[in-house]
Amino acid sequence: MDNQTLLQFFHWYYNEADKLWIKAAKEAENLAEMGITGIWLPPAYKANSGASSVGYDPYDLYDLGEFDQKDTLATKYGTKEEYQNAIKILQENGLIVIADIVFNHKAGGDELEKVMVRSVNPEDREEFTSEPFEIEAWTKFNFKGRAGQYSQFIWDKDCFSGIDWAEDLKETGIYSIQNIYGEGWEEVPSKELGNYDYLMYNDIEFRNPAVREELKRWGEWYVNNCGMKGFRLDAVKHIATDFLIEWLDHMNETFQTQFFVVAENWNIDNVFELEQYLEITKGRMQLFDSLLHHNLFIAGAEKEQYDLSKIFEGTLVQLQPLYTVTFVDNHDSQPLQALESYVEFWFRPLAYALILLREDGIPCIFYPDLYGATYKDEDKEEEMVEVSLVPLAKLPEMIHIRKELSYGLQRDYLDFPNCIGWTRAGIAEKVNSGIAVIMSNGEEGFKAMEMGLENVGKTMIDAMGNRNEKITIDEKGWAEFFCNAESVSVWTIV
Ligand code: CA
Repeated sequence: MDNQTLLQFFHWYYNEADKLWIKAAKEAENLAEMGITGIWLPPAYKANSGASSVGYDPYDLYDLGEFDQKDTLATKYGTKEEYQNAIKILQENGLIVIADIVFNHKAGGDELEKVMVRSVNPEDREEFTSEPFEIEAWTKFNFKGRAGQYSQFIWDKDCFSGIDWAEDLKETGIYSIQNIYGEGWEEVPSKELGNYDYLMYNDIEFRNPAVREELKRWGEWYVNNCGMKGFRLDAVKHIATDFLIEWLDHMNETFQTQFFVVAENWNIDNVFELEQYLEITKGRMQLFDSLLHHNLFIAGAEKEQYDLSKIFEGTLVQLQPLYTVTFVDNHDSQPLQALESYVEFWFRPLAYALILLREDGIPCIFYPDLYGATYKDEDKEEEMVEVSLVPLAKLPEMIHIRKELSYGLQRDYLDFPNCIGWTRAGIAEKVNSGIAVIMSNGEEGFKAMEMGLENVGKTMIDAMGNRNEKITIDEKGWAEFFCNAESVSVWTIV
């Protein structure tokens, strides 16, 4: 089987003339040819901010751009039909589609209800700062625009464990909702802020069995209507893990398949929490390696001060290579976003070589690195600066090398603070496979590395076009490889 490569097919400020679903369908063939094997599409359902929503403030999971709700029929990305068509065309081209699932919260309730709550200390959510009292809150969702089509389920105050707005008091805060399903917050993976069950909007109450059943029915409806083969689970550290396990088992059993699942569990300082999560979820899902992203960010910022030989230290891909999706950046880390930590432009080719051309992990490419992006943040008046992210010229070639050539025994030379490298010896099934990668964050680099006896006498050139030498593998299977200052060279067999 060919190496897998995912593509996050959107960014926070996607604003091109083609709506995203249209663009995805148009690009399907090209992406498959390049070596992309899976496409992560953004949340497809109607969200509270209507036609401008990126999708992480979900309102109605059954409205995929079909009903006149939140002042729009289509979502930012297009209509339900366009979505279904994009998935069909992508999957006909051999790409698996990974749908983004936001289960932690709902936004934009239709009606007010009287709700009993307790205030909590935002910095320590286990500390209740009031006796129970009543507020009016937007906890009823009846989806008038959909009028019961596909599901009659009405969400109300028993479906939520917390909310951040008291309409009658005109007051924000974190309010723990009193209902019959449990005292206080749910048990969730993250112990940040005491208990990080509550993230934003109306926090879903998974202790309510009716909620669990409704979300399972919805999952069946979603796959029956759209046919996606994978899921990206949003914000899992804020969600009761037993619910996600129950939901995934239900989906795999119902469709007699193993959906590809990758979860977002953002964490930049404790890899053991991620390992623990993998242990509990027992192979049902992969996790994004936010720790490697963080190392890449620091490496880009510190330039030659950074010790490249330690780039994988403390990362998930080092400890759990079979359950890790690696990435350079995503829609949360891009410039102007909440978790902004964009890897510096000079380092991005090195970062992509580190995730694309090694044995471990499944890499996920970020949209702007292939297509570019130019945008402003209209919501931030003080930051009306225009951001321009240019595509990386050599990225398609690197993806293609991953698909065709990056196979076989890996020999590591992660042995010098400013210059590291590795080789892949190649396999018989892939013609001319086998590569040598060398990178430097300081001066020009050189390194003797072994390609193996099977490659004796072969000639290699730098597929990145940075170096003009031709390198010949000597009679012992070794050669000396080169790269420019602050650069990466990828040597391939000619
Ligand atoms: Ca939650």
